[in-house]
Amino acid sequence: MGRVRATNQDDFGAGDDIFVLADGMGGHRGGEVASAEAVAGVLSSFDDRTRAGLARAVDRANQAVFGRAAGDVDLFGMGTTLCALALVRGEGVDALAVANVGDSRVYRYGDGRLTQISDDHSLVADLVRAGDLTEEEAARHPQRNILTRALGIEPALSVDTWELPALAGDRYLLCSDGLFNELSDDRIAGLLEGDNNPELTAAALVRAAVDAGGHDNVTALVVDVDVAPSAEGPWQRPEVKVEQPSNGGTRSTRQRVGSLRQPFQSMRTRLAGKRR
Ligand code: MG
Repeated sequence: MGRVRATNQDDFGAGDDIFVLADGMGGHRGGEVASAEAVAGVLSSFDDRTRAGLARAVDRANQAVFGRAAGDVDLFGMGTTLCALALVRGEGVDALAVANVGDSRVYRYGDGRLTQISDDHSLVADLVRAGDLTEEEAARHPQRNILTRALGIEPALSVDTWELPALAGDRYLLCSDGLFNELSDDRIAGLLEGDNNPELTAAALVRAAVDAGGHDNVTALVVDVDVAPSAEGPWQRPEVKVEQPSNGGTRSTRQRVGSLRQPFQSMRTRLAGKRR
């Protein structure tokens, strides 16, 4: 819980090498129900350990949230962000898949650098990508909480996914906007640095964001890659395949993280639907 809101609509969960976080929205109990339903939906329907399987699990969770919202007047209009990280079977080796809808975020912290993996689906993120707003302006924008994509709003959903090599020593952070709206990238990186175990690190991140203002609820999931990966024979870093986004690559790299992000950005594919 932050210091302002009376309820916490963030939710999270973990299963067998899958980690999910959601930040709900909607009046009454709507937001809480949406985020809980979405997290449970992804965990229960992740039965194909591939990047596409993770996207399908998010799609099923969307249908569950949408169906529940449509069937209950108290829950009408509820929705939620969702991001997930899962160990998947890549081509011959284990890999990590990331999925995202909305403005919760997945970061990778490795080699001393913090890199945002996911793209925000928000009004201000669109304006930044179009060059109409700077990152600094976006961070203070009064409408920065307006989402352009969320679970539970429409029966069909476009899910962004990435596949990354699983590198021992890497640390991943899944978090709600209550974290990164309060803490700078440098502060987040500083808290992720070091040998603290993931649980202590997550607690320190949440505490720092609440101490910095706590204007929203704050959730952080910290995942360490301990052993990687389970390929036969001597392990080699998987070759990074470049896939052209199906939308023609109109999205630009975030200025804030610059070229650090490029290897991941180039791996983006759009799974279904079109950008709204
Ligand atoms: Mg939030």
